[in-house]
Amino acid sequence: MITEYYRPESLAEAIDLNARTDSVVIGGGTIVNAQPGDVAAVIDLQALGLSGIERDGDHLRIGATTTLKAISDGPAVPTTLRDLARRELPSGLRERATLGGTIAAGDAESELLTALLAFGAILEIVDRDGTRSVDIPSFFAAPTGIIVAVDIPGTGTAATERTGRTPMDRPIVCAVSHRAPDGTVRLALGGVSDTPVTVDPAGIDDLEPPGDFRGSSAFRKHLAKVLAKRVIAAVGATP
Ligand SMILES: Cc1cc2nc3c(=O)[nH]c(=O)nc-3n(C[C@H](O)[C@H](O)[C@H](O)COP(=O)(O)OP(=O)(O)OC[C@H]3O[C@@H](n4cnc5c(N)ncnc54)[C@H](O)[C@@H]3O)c2cc1C
Repeated sequence: MITEYYRPESLAEAIDLNARTDSVVIGGGTIVNAQPGDVAAVIDLQALGLSGIERDGDHLRIGATTTLKAISDGPAVPTTLRDLARRELPSGLRERATLGGTIAAGDAESELLTALLAFGAILEIVDRDGTRSVDIPSFFAAPTGIIVAVDIPGTGTAATERTGRTPMDRPIVCAVSHRAPDGTVRLALGGVSDTPVTVDPAGIDDLEPPGDFRGSSAFRKHLAKVLAKRVIAAVGATP
């Protein structure tokens, strides 16, 4: 049960509070408030000035507490990410939910998170050891520290595909590809593992998707192959 609420005004204070084992940071709090679990203290990041979208040459730096609403409305944000931020949640929750919370939650079927993987997003993370820059798979392998910002390329071409029970439902499987100006193509899939993953198209057969009432493991693998082929072809690469 949550019994303590902190709203630090400096990152140093937030880092110290986050060292407690019974505390969690919150961005929008849409997950933490819905499922508090054993959490005793929450550390609200909203007074730290971590929201905003800045262009830095060919890249964008998006602050961790930037809301999904601000991302979906951001003219500098690539269209694919804007569209997927809008699809992620209903409008009331988009006003609260943040980019950092969406990444840390690691939802297997998050289309926005799948796209961030395809774009090769780099996370800026702080903890008592200082600041580090890691990609999303590395963060999933060791999910510690506070995400303060996310760096994404503002260039290149992207394509998305999804299959859900209905057009507006969450995807059973989704695929996003991104082709950088130098021709590098990255493919990411959602709904095929515990979190969205980047995959080599040739390695899709090695995936072992969890099955559920919406689709068996074999069905999800089949969808993954079909959707991957489409998004790779859509960015002009050879499937
Ligand atoms: C009714 C409802 C429907 C939902 N539907 C969907 C859906 O369809 N698809 C989907 O993907 N999600 C869904 N969610 C989950 C959730 O709303 C989103 O994942 C949301 O984007 C999380 O963002 P947040 O800022 O609110 O996260 P929070 O609840 O604030 O935090 C989520 C997790 O991230 C951690 N965290 C937050 N910020 C940071 C940070 N800066 N650095 C490190 N860790 C951090 C927290 O400690 C916590 O573990 C739904 C939630 C609700 C309540």
